[in-house]
Amino acid sequence: MTKKFTDAEEYFNHMETIRSDIMENTLSTVSEVDLSTITQRDVRNALNSERLDINGFASLISPAAESFLEEMAQRARQEKERYFGNSVNIFTPLYTSNHCDNGCMYCGFNKNNKIHRARLSPKDIEAEMSNIAGSGLTEILILTGESRKMSDTKFINECVRTATKYFRNVGVEVYPMNVQEYKELHESGADYVTVFQETYDPVRYAELHPFGPKRVYSYRFNSQERALIGGMRGVAFGALLGLGDHRKDALACGTHAYLLQRKYPHAEISFSLPRLRPFINGNYSAELISERHLLQIALAYRIFMPFSGQTISSRESPRFRDNIVGLSATKISAGVSVGIGGHAEEKKGDEQFNISDPRNVEDIRKALTERGLQPVFNDYVRV
Ligand code: SF4
Repeated sequence: MTKKFTDAEEYFNHMETIRSDIMENTLSTVSEVDLSTITQRDVRNALNSERLDINGFASLISPAAESFLEEMAQRARQEKERYFGNSVNIFTPLYTSNHCDNGCMYCGFNKNNKIHRARLSPKDIEAEMSNIAGSGLTEILILTGESRKMSDTKFINECVRTATKYFRNVGVEVYPMNVQEYKELHESGADYVTVFQETYDPVRYAELHPFGPKRVYSYRFNSQERALIGGMRGVAFGALLGLGDHRKDALACGTHAYLLQRKYPHAEISFSLPRLRPFINGNYSAELISERHLLQIALAYRIFMPFSGQTISSRESPRFRDNIVGLSATKISAGVSVGIGGHAEEKKGDEQFNISDPRNVEDIRKALTERGLQPVFNDYVRV
């Protein structure tokens, strides 16, 4: 790895560097694993272990584990029941702005894409949140495109403060911030921070992020750690499956979360499993990740870190989502609009990608209940 990917301050001097070896350890661990040499015996050993180490996790991610999906599903279900019972949390994302300074080649919000841009006004945000809360939801995830200029920290803090009037659990998925900024966000009422590394392969990462602050791999990588130092209760991880070698990306993502959990045992860790979806004006062709492969990764995360949260997004079909919440996922979105606004009135800006599951909160609640699962709107009280 060259200096180019790691020295944040050479590019953007607002980027804080923290003392941490988690990135180096994750990348060196992944580079030492050859998934193609893992045997069925390795997979069986992993499934027979009470607790998995990183090698055991690698076994479950490997091609050799594909013929063990049924056994993995049974083990994942047991682990999920042990730590979460039959409960599944429901939440919804709210996109508040689609302005973005980055050039991610796989995203409809990228700066060079000619789309209808918008940012919600304080009045719009209040209306959207009030409408969402009216559906019974008590958890919200606030998203913006990554523009420090168009969605500055003041704007995001205001969104969070408004959200605390309507919701008990508030997450943010915005550009990476410094420790002090995360601290302020936490004081405004945010509980958890989601940052997707997209692909963990630094070379592929550089190709896919030709310009913009997101180009600094290391600053993004250390976001979760800065958020925890800033006082956040939980952090979420994800690789956008299809951008690089999906097995290696899943291995790196799990390793990243595992090493962070060891360093910060109190942190609530979650995984997301997004697959690349078609997007507006997009002609980017990705590696196609089948549902079987997605399932394998979801089950492997559950068995490796059985106490972690796992979110399944509306990028996936209703059938797949309904099944995975019974096996490994602990959180499901409902009533999703990925345009800017769209819950209270007409949406004001274009969507980030196309969704596959348009069901509303009541539909999802019903689907969970019919499967004997317990829909949970909140399991957290701020004191
Ligand atoms: S993935 Fe995020 S940072 Fe990249 S263009 Fe889309 S909104 Fe911007």
